[in-house]
Amino acid sequence: MIQLYQPLNFMGMVYREIRQAVIDIEQMFDVLAQNPEIKDKPDARPLVVSQGGIRFENVHFAYDPARPILKGVSFEVPAGKTVAVVGPSGAGKSTISRLIFRFYEPQSGRILIDGQNIADVTQVSLRQQVGMVPQDTVLFNDTIAYNIRYGRWDATDEEVEEAARLAQIDSFIRMVPGGYKAQVGERGLKLSGGEKQRVAIARTILKAPPILMLDEATSALDSFTEREIQSALELVVKDRTTLVIAHRLSTIINADEILVLDAGQIVERGRHEQLLAAGGVYNALWNRQREVDAAQETLRRAEAAE
Ligand code: ATP
Repeated sequence: MIQLYQPLNFMGMVYREIRQAVIDIEQMFDVLAQNPEIKDKPDARPLVVSQGGIRFENVHFAYDPARPILKGVSFEVPAGKTVAVVGPSGAGKSTISRLIFRFYEPQSGRILIDGQNIADVTQVSLRQQVGMVPQDTVLFNDTIAYNIRYGRWDATDEEVEEAARLAQIDSFIRMVPGGYKAQVGERGLKLSGGEKQRVAIARTILKAPPILMLDEATSALDSFTEREIQSALELVVKDRTTLVIAHRLSTIINADEILVLDAGQIVERGRHEQLLAAGGVYNALWNRQREVDAAQETLRRAEAAE
């Protein structure tokens, strides 16, 4: 029996290793090769970032020609400032961040970074200068330290820990068995959405890109986690050109400018107080979000009290 069991056990192990390798490769492709159709021009130059200003000039975009998503979008994120894009679900907010990463290209109009059309620069240089805190972070099946160091491979252990501390995830890591060497992902410790997002923030702190995109989590986080993430983000955003794709509205009160996108067009723009006072689309989105948040918090409290 043992003679039969051992080869089977070995084959099981090999199967698991192969399956895991496939999952790892799939994740790499998710992260690195979103759209292989986008190719560098033969004379593409590296992007040179001095200040880090972003400019959209009359950008039109459709995934499918029959259904335009962005219809003449123009805006500017001045160097070092924070601009937030808000709007109803499906308005095209995340599409804007995909275009900045050049996972897709506009059908017309231009996207410039420090005056250089991103269609003319190499994708590698573009992605080196633009950091992204996505709403759903892919964690590799490896240690927590590896997942943070992904932001900058030559970072020392001290730098990894410092980034984790700034991202408010260090004390959590120290509490889990194995600490920074704990395995995460499919095979290891499962992290909550808020914890994963803080790992992504730590990665971004290590990468220290001049331009940053934050794709805010769609799902509601409890108010404590949200505050923790908020204070972690404030450190990252400081003095960096930042575009916030806001699916919720709580992180954008202090943005230098808020763009309200509706059906592919910017319908309102201004600061939080101005837009609230204007009593338009933003005002309605804000009030609805507050009602949803209040209802969810009440539900959570009731569940916690049971
Ligand atoms: P949400 O707040 O719900 O995340 P959003 O404003 O970020 O929405 P986008 O993700 O930019 O919306 O999507 C805009 C529209 O484009 C949606 O209707 C979506 O279905 C469509 N879309 C998004 N990605 C693709 C794709 N890869 N192919 C085809 N259509 C897509």
